[in-house]
Amino acid sequence: MHSSHWHPETRVIRTRYASTEAREHSVPLFLTSSFCYPDAETMRAVFADEQEAYIYSRFSNPNVDEFVQRMCALEGAEDGFATASGMSAVFASIMAFLQQGDHLLSSAAIFGSTHTLFSKYLPKWGIRCDEFDMRHPEQIEKLIRPETKMIFLETPSNPGLDIIDIKQVAEIAHAHGLLLNVDNCFATPALQQPIALGADLVVHSATKWIDGQGRVLGGIVLGKKALIHEVYLLCRTMGPSLSPFNAWMLSRSLETLHLRMQQHSANAWELARRLQSHPSVRQVRYPFLESHPQYAIARKQMTAGGGIVCFELKGGLAQGKRFLDALQMLSLTANLGDTRSIASHPASTTHAKLTEEERLAVGITPGLIRISVGLEHVDDIYADIEQALEKSEH
Ligand SMILES: *Cc1c(COP(=O)(O)O)cnc(C)c1O
Repeated sequence: MHSSHWHPETRVIRTRYASTEAREHSVPLFLTSSFCYPDAETMRAVFADEQEAYIYSRFSNPNVDEFVQRMCALEGAEDGFATASGMSAVFASIMAFLQQGDHLLSSAAIFGSTHTLFSKYLPKWGIRCDEFDMRHPEQIEKLIRPETKMIFLETPSNPGLDIIDIKQVAEIAHAHGLLLNVDNCFATPALQQPIALGADLVVHSATKWIDGQGRVLGGIVLGKKALIHEVYLLCRTMGPSLSPFNAWMLSRSLETLHLRMQQHSANAWELARRLQSHPSVRQVRYPFLESHPQYAIARKQMTAGGGIVCFELKGGLAQGKRFLDALQMLSLTANLGDTRSIASHPASTTHAKLTEEERLAVGITPGLIRISVGLEHVDDIYADIEQALEKSEH
């Protein structure tokens, strides 16, 4: 039973793979690499794409299908292809559409590995990439060339939380016949739906808020059926497919995504407001703080500010290190989007491969601290940060 009037929260919970003969309530785990056919003729028809059935888990699998259908329900997408990690989703979403000689335009403020992919690897295959400053979308049009095929962006960006008007960029992209590809990892479809704003493709690292508990890696590319078919054809050959186990975990996680993102956002907003008046903190960045330079855009395209808060310590790099060492409860780890609050220092970790100049251009100053705000009580999160700030001052 399925209703088109249902809200996203209902659709994601009630979209599921059909039960087996056991009529189990919870979806079982299909740990199988391939699927059987009753006879040679059926097998021939399935391989010839004349009949729909599972073939091999590199192509698809019931658990992976369930995850894809649930993500489609949330993002308002026609179809999707799930991958083993966020990076394989980013990679597939580009390689399915660009070839030697093509040109990619990307926002400068992007995830560290995505930046490495665009600046180091794509040029090896003859795909050139130029970057634009998210704070100046008017630059985009000047950078478009006859060979440009796609605009890629991340909003809010990791880690600087820069925001760009998705609808505005979609209009520019479509006026020039380009695809708009949006990494929606930081907002998740619970807070922002790029396809409704005009994006052609949405990519995710499901490793982050979608899993939400720091357990498994995963990724997905979403969009119109015809576009996703290209991604599927590439991936069934290249093989970066999501494992059924990870898909099963991620499908269960999606049932609580809205609930979790509301609470992560509420905690983060409260933390951002408290940090704003702390004497050691030079600047706090959070999409729903009025001091955020793109506050108006954030309010227009997001329903809440998300779970990431960044702040700049007055004492720079040295104080940043003392601050991390003084934390007692928050975890020091590379991941984000967990029930447990996490502190990180982008300049020495996720964005260490960028030059100092590249880092400063996207707002990663030496004293920038990124907090992925968890689901602990906000008073406890703030208390740990407050005591660490105090210790870091000396
Ligand atoms: C983590 C991340 C990725 C990469 O995802 P993995 O699952 O680690 O491969 C891509 N984009 C953003 C914004 C991320 O935060």
